[in-house]
Amino acid sequence: MIHLTEVRDTLPEGVQLVAVSKFHPAELIREAYDQGQRIFGESRVQELREKQTALPDDIEWHFIGHLQPNKVKYIAPFIRLIHAVDSFKLLCEIDKQGRKVGRVIDCLLELHLAAEETKFGFTKAECLAMLEEGAWRELRNVRLTGLMCMASHTDEEARIRQDFHEASVFFDEVKTRFFADEPSFCQRSWGMSGDYPIAIEERATLVRIGSAIFGEREG
Ligand SMILES: *Cc1c(COP(=O)(O)O)cnc(C)c1O
Repeated sequence: MIHLTEVRDTLPEGVQLVAVSKFHPAELIREAYDQGQRIFGESRVQELREKQTALPDDIEWHFIGHLQPNKVKYIAPFIRLIHAVDSFKLLCEIDKQGRKVGRVIDCLLELHLAAEETKFGFTKAECLAMLEEGAWRELRNVRLTGLMCMASHTDEEARIRQDFHEASVFFDEVKTRFFADEPSFCQRSWGMSGDYPIAIEERATLVRIGSAIFGEREG
């Protein structure tokens, strides 16, 4: 029993749902697929490969977790969007693997705004420095289509809103300075089961929702 429709019914037009199926078996994904869901998010390479092989070809797989450069090659042939690019090195590797399989792979840059030290991602300063440096413009087999972030891990709504708001303001800065002529740079990936209504108020275009659809998972 999944809660796909309940969640989908709460999303306004213009917000796409990434159904986060990590740690859940292929049968549950199939159930969501049969109810019309096509975008699924996974965060482990091996698990994603197994599911991709077992499930229908018209699923749009998104990689939402931390991605190690040496594993890019396993998902390059089919991945539709990589949400959490957190270094220029990773972006270069995605480009290299994209070239090998003749694809241009869409990527989001992951921002680190949360209070926790341990989260991955670029600080705003690091992100701007990378974009200003400009070498990314030479990469022909990746396309930057937006930003991703996670809010601080807290129940404090004000702090969560502040994180998403900061991401939203920063998106406009990056868009204006580096992607003004590129309509494809348009994605704001923020919001999970616990905080997606706030994320939508702060202009998310992609929400990554797992447990609210599939129930609690282990791990
Ligand atoms: C697991 C995960 C989600 C979904 O989390 P839920 O709380 O289950 O909705 C979203 N984004 C990322 C990056 C994740 O790892």
